[in-house]
Amino acid sequence: MNTLITLTFTIMMFEMPKLPYANNALEPVISQQTIDFHYGKHLQGYVNNLNNMVPGTEFENKDLTTIVATAPDGAIFNNAGQVLNHTLYFLQFAPKPSQSAPTGKLAEAINRDFGSFDNFKKEFAAAATALFGSGWAWLSADKNGKLHITKEANGSNPVRSGYTPLLGFDVWEHAYYLDYQNRRADHINALWAIIDWKVVGDRLK
Ligand code: MN
Repeated sequence: MNTLITLTFTIMMFEMPKLPYANNALEPVISQQTIDFHYGKHLQGYVNNLNNMVPGTEFENKDLTTIVATAPDGAIFNNAGQVLNHTLYFLQFAPKPSQSAPTGKLAEAINRDFGSFDNFKKEFAAAATALFGSGWAWLSADKNGKLHITKEANGSNPVRSGYTPLLGFDVWEHAYYLDYQNRRADHINALWAIIDWKVVGDRLK
């Protein structure tokens, strides 16, 4: 007897974002060593944790944004938040940004809501520098297109408030300690040079 059994099942696995640059390409702003640890160890750890935790829960086969927006505080939320955060984070950088400043709709919104691009950068850097402990500073847009700068504790993300995340600075010490030690403000100010504003602008729907 010849039996052909075809098992078809789909398990949604969370994946590492593919870096659009070499691990050493963001130097001297972010060193290869920091990318190797931050992307290769920290983010890989969050992805692995999430893939181990989600199967068999109500979040199986839900997309990442839905999980971050709706999961109760706890391990799934923490790891999903960090996978979403770091995916947006690593993809917003470029060694030679195609746009070194916002244009179009995003530029208009920044001027409207923060006065100027320079003033936006000042307010954003102040939020990231002043954030107590581990967390993220985010620029996001609400449903009316109004922009917000928020400080998110630990692994949270503005999708928790129904906002669309556009730009995120990671101020966990693992993001900068190898290169800048305690000088978080220096790290934040250096990051502006590698933000690709084309990528950030495309996130504003
Ligand atoms: Mn991080």
